[in-house]
Amino acid sequence: MSIPLLDLVAQYHAIKDEMDAAVLGVLESGKFILGPNVTALEKEICEYLGVKHAVGLASGTDALIIALRAAGVGAGDEVIVPAYTFFATAGAVLNVGATPVFVDVHPDTYLMDFTQVESIITARTKALIPVHLYGQPADMDEILAIAKKHNLKVIEDNAQAIGSEYKGKKTGSIGDMGCLSFFPSKNLGGYGDGGMLVTNDDGLAEKARMLRAHGWKKKYFPEMLGYNSRLDEIQAAILRVKLKHLDDWNHRRREIARQYSHTLKAFGLETPVEAPGRTHVYHLYMVRFSRRGEVQKKLKDAGIATEVYYPQPLHLADPCKALGKKEGDYPVAEKASLSLLALPLYPELSNAQFEEVCVEVEKIARATSAS
Ligand SMILES: *Cc1c(COP(=O)(O)O)cnc(C)c1O
Repeated sequence: MSIPLLDLVAQYHAIKDEMDAAVLGVLESGKFILGPNVTALEKEICEYLGVKHAVGLASGTDALIIALRAAGVGAGDEVIVPAYTFFATAGAVLNVGATPVFVDVHPDTYLMDFTQVESIITARTKALIPVHLYGQPADMDEILAIAKKHNLKVIEDNAQAIGSEYKGKKTGSIGDMGCLSFFPSKNLGGYGDGGMLVTNDDGLAEKARMLRAHGWKKKYFPEMLGYNSRLDEIQAAILRVKLKHLDDWNHRRREIARQYSHTLKAFGLETPVEAPGRTHVYHLYMVRFSRRGEVQKKLKDAGIATEVYYPQPLHLADPCKALGKKEGDYPVAEKASLSLLALPLYPELSNAQFEEVCVEVEKIARATSAS
């Protein structure tokens, strides 16, 4: 049996009738950009997350860029980001001309280590971007308290965690702005690129709406330099179908994660740590292996797909080299990039597939501890 990391075709087949009707409906409507499906999805996301405004955009990366621009972040400003996340979190900061300032992550959760944030705040710091990494909410109470004290904006990178909750609130709705990604592999993924910015602030929402369409409110009369970054109607129609299933899918992800952790802990493996007061939606199920390369190869030989998220901490990425950081500066991020491996976890993973992954991982764990 070959087991993929994710099976979007199986998911499509489970919702095929509903999905085909939604996509064909858009083709028949003749409306493809900023039409009724985008408006409806924005409203549905507002209701789902409990926010006032949602702005459909072309990608999660654009959502971060537009959030920074809406907050007035630009050249000469500093933005604090975790040293360990997907590159776009720092890439967006660089793209608006600002400087990402890294902070190491917590060794148990790999979330931004808020205890290290205050010491790196300067007069130039404008914003913090906590990332709800792998589907687990960051320490929002502590981060919001620091932001309030230093008058900083908080932009939640919620690309991996739609549906997760922090003390009863949906992630993305807690800071000044939340950024969503609808990249196909995300918990709520389209069949192409897509993203969204959410906020309770009328002014930030208005700026984001302008920035996604050339900086204009009135067509052809730009008031600022914007972008062309819009979620399209086909993706919005697809996402509206999937949003109805999101809670069930996230529930199933959590159930599989619980079973994995129960089984793999017994083999002496280091499984994900859930911090208190929050719901982890397991966008990715990451296990720490000291001999990761060897484990990955053995699982591949057994037909089981795995993936490394992420093989490089951000301070060592080429576009960040000019910041002058070096190996050893963020030790937890560096160690994580060398040891974490994602195992197959998706709502459609069958019990037989789950069992097989566990059997193969157990063989490897036993061989490794015996050698
Ligand atoms: C996927 C992702 C993004 C970027 O989203 P895209 O839609 O691919 O541009 C940003 N941050 C994190 C943490 C992500 O996982």
